[in-house]
Amino acid sequence: MTSSITLVAGREKSLLRRHPWVFSRAVDRVQGQPNAGDTVDILSHKGQWLGRGFYSPQSQIRARVWTFDRNEHIDEAFFLRRLERAKAGREDLIHEQGLTGYRLCAAESDGLPGVTIDVYANVVVCQLLSTGAERWRKAIVAALTSLYPGACIYERSDVAVRKKEGLKERKGLLAGTLPTEPVVIEENNGVRILIDVETGHKTGFYLDQRDNRRIAGRYCQGKRVLNCFSYTGTFGVYALKGGASEVVNADVSESALALAKQNAELNQLDLSRARFEQADVFKLLREYREQGESFDVIVLDPPKFAESKAQLNGACRGYKDINMLAFQLLNPGGVLLTFSCSGLMTSDLFQKIVADAALDAGRDAQILERLNQAADHPIGTAYPEGHYLKGLVVRAW
Ligand code: SAH
Repeated sequence: MTSSITLVAGREKSLLRRHPWVFSRAVDRVQGQPNAGDTVDILSHKGQWLGRGFYSPQSQIRARVWTFDRNEHIDEAFFLRRLERAKAGREDLIHEQGLTGYRLCAAESDGLPGVTIDVYANVVVCQLLSTGAERWRKAIVAALTSLYPGACIYERSDVAVRKKEGLKERKGLLAGTLPTEPVVIEENNGVRILIDVETGHKTGFYLDQRDNRRIAGRYCQGKRVLNCFSYTGTFGVYALKGGASEVVNADVSESALALAKQNAELNQLDLSRARFEQADVFKLLREYREQGESFDVIVLDPPKFAESKAQLNGACRGYKDINMLAFQLLNPGGVLLTFSCSGLMTSDLFQKIVADAALDAGRDAQILERLNQAADHPIGTAYPEGHYLKGLVVRAW
């Protein structure tokens, strides 16, 4: 018999709204002896069936829902159905933008909590971050093998958040063989990007910024561009394609910058207009200020500054600092494209921080565009936490 979890009275509300998480403090009692990853029915205090999910004994999120349909069983076929749905939902986008790299499955927002899957040409990369995902690894691989016959399936679950679920970091081949030649994807109809599947960030690349890269390119004709936290330099690729007179890509990671250079070459761009600076952006921006450097376009796409609520204040100071420095370096009429990928940072708070940064820099500034994650990173309407990437295009006078 399936184990079950009965909630504290009143704690059924979020599940009735199809939010997929059950926090430990919402659990009144557990019937049966479920192990990590086992399927459990979730019941209200009065015994009403709410959802079917998986148990995570060590996590503060004690259970996450696989399905809100009482007749749906959790088996191999369930994972195939979910992933088929995810793929169907992306077909138009893939076709319209000529994508060979895209997010196939955005975890909770695609009805598979803790399961992130990115496709890079003939390599499918999985990140399994929950006990349920861990339990059903084989079923997920079987589903992917049937959806992508002949593809290499590679796991990149080498991330610290797995600890919260009591899981160790993992990475390696799950099916097929890794191609010997470098993995290259195409996006926005013809832009080519090298992907470091085995050691790149996240699953290898930041697919979520695809639309924003294209938008950035539109502001760069004849401009001097500073691409901060450049990683593999793809904002820089679009800037050069957009006609920038010079692009400085800055990142601490030497290996990321090496790929950045190769990405510029791969797109047959004029490398004499590109520079690659290995530097701490916080220091570099101050050095540029002291040297009296200035730019027409600045991209600020830093790593996640806030991993937890406790870090949010510090994160706000970090965002304020780099945004203020960027405003100080912008020529009159210059454009800042500034981002936060911290889920805990709301759009409103981020806008306030950017406004404060402009104020401290003594600049008049206008928001021209509001930016978000690309459409293959959808946000479940019942799961607003799925909205993590936000950006602003700001003109400073
Ligand atoms: N803009 C990139 C993604 C940026 S990810 C893209 O579109 O693909 C964040 C990057 O910031 C990483 O490459 C990391 O190496 C770099 N980084 C983190 N802290 C840094 C710092 N203090 N100075 C410079 N780079 C930093």
